[in-house]
Amino acid sequence: MHPLHHDAFVFDAHCDTLGQALPGLLRRDLREWGAFGHLDLPRLAAGGINCQVFACFPGESRLNAGATSAALQRLEVLYELLAQAPDCITLVQTAADLDRLTPDGPVGALLGLEGAEALDGTLALLHTFFRLGVRVLGLSWNPRNAACDGVDGGGDFGLTLYGRELVQACNQLGVVLDVSHLNAAGIKDVLAISKQPIMASHSNARALCGNRRNLTDSQLVAIAAQGGVIGATFVPDFLVDNGEEASIGHLLAHIDYMVDVAGIDHVGLGSDFDGWTLPEDLDSGEKYPRITDGLLAYGYPEDAIRKILGENFRRVFHQVLPPGHPIGDA
Ligand SMILES: [Zn+2]
Repeated sequence: MHPLHHDAFVFDAHCDTLGQALPGLLRRDLREWGAFGHLDLPRLAAGGINCQVFACFPGESRLNAGATSAALQRLEVLYELLAQAPDCITLVQTAADLDRLTPDGPVGALLGLEGAEALDGTLALLHTFFRLGVRVLGLSWNPRNAACDGVDGGGDFGLTLYGRELVQACNQLGVVLDVSHLNAAGIKDVLAISKQPIMASHSNARALCGNRRNLTDSQLVAIAAQGGVIGATFVPDFLVDNGEEASIGHLLAHIDYMVDVAGIDHVGLGSDFDGWTLPEDLDSGEKYPRITDGLLAYGYPEDAIRKILGENFRRVFHQVLPPGHPIGDA
């Protein structure tokens, strides 16, 4: 690992790892280096990752029924891990928690919901999930829900009244809004309503790869103008039109392009580890330092690399999260 990578604050804005450790499914033990999958505690450490957003995606079959239970079960996977390995992983709920993370200390874990389905159309459950430590809300996965239209929602509708209330409530509580998976009208609405910077946790540039989940130049510019960050993702079909050819070279090209369009302060990383089959040179946490090697080879200066690796996301989360301990203020 290059010393710059070890020393830098490395933040990954999206993984689906919790779903792979549920009792009864793949049942991975995240304390051990897995024979399959992409991420676990040893590989977070080997990859030099200092803070990881763990998304709770209920699974496609449970979006319409059982999403709340599915999200709670994923939270429980992380709570158990926090209890089993307190020296290796620590929950980040506040800006102060972020400040405590160090290169050789426990990895910071942020909890997120991927899709508002788990909230069951209520604001009350947003508060409940907040009390449980959730600090990221992706309003949609791909289909339409009570809050908004996802990229597969079938219309060009923006946020519903409920979706608008959710954005305001996230601002008030200190929850970072995630517009990956949202359709164009929804992204526009979130940007118009949110008083805080937002993120697209795992999306790339549409100009380089036509996937509908990738962002247009004007969306990249709009997210940046409001102080937000786009997490470049490793998913093959978001890297190149023929996903089979995808490699780290395509990821570096997306990063470079988005830096060009959105600016150096607005690009980060969101692997989507354990969400998809990933390119061979990016398919495991310990390969993360290769991104730093690649950016150095591109000629990026050290301070720019630090911003991409994590400082940009740290800025957004530091601004949005509650400053101190939140329980009781929710
Ligand atoms: Zn996703």
